[in-house]
Amino acid sequence: MGLIIRSSAIHAAGCYTTTAIRKGARVAEYDGHRLSKDDADARFGESPITYLFGLGRGEMVIDGHSMAMFINHSCDPNCETEEVDGRVWITALHNIAAGEEITYDYCLYDGGDDECVCNCGSAYCRGTMFSPKEMRRRKAGAKKARKGKRDKEKAGARARTK
Ligand SMILES: [Zn+2]
Repeated sequence: MGLIIRSSAIHAAGCYTTTAIRKGARVAEYDGHRLSKDDADARFGESPITYLFGLGRGEMVIDGHSMAMFINHSCDPNCETEEVDGRVWITALHNIAAGEEITYDYCLYDGGDDECVCNCGSAYCRGTMFSPKEMRRRKAGAKKARKGKRDKEKAGARARTK
């Protein structure tokens, strides 16, 4: 299996496969330095670009430092992520042809004021890289904000903004 990084129509650089990948195969590992959610907030709270991936219920995150950090989001992706014993694998959802860009659904949460607009171009594009659950939470959050309340829920599967 060969992965290369090159420019992408979705966002800046993307990750492409040079060989065909069979459904269910592990394409890459989202590897990098592990740190607590609080440390990540302290270190990256003001950063416009981060490559953080939330583990478990979000109490730990991976600061991406591997090929997988270049994989772009798509609302109609060809891969998904699975967490096995604290490691995160990017796994093929279906057969992928050589030359295709590798994508997975970021399902972002905890993105601050950023709208995380999606440009994946898929027919199913929901317009944002936030998870459907986070989109509902944000709608509810906006109503709460008008009532002067603050919303600080931290649940979710992934924390990654860029
Ligand atoms: Zn999209």
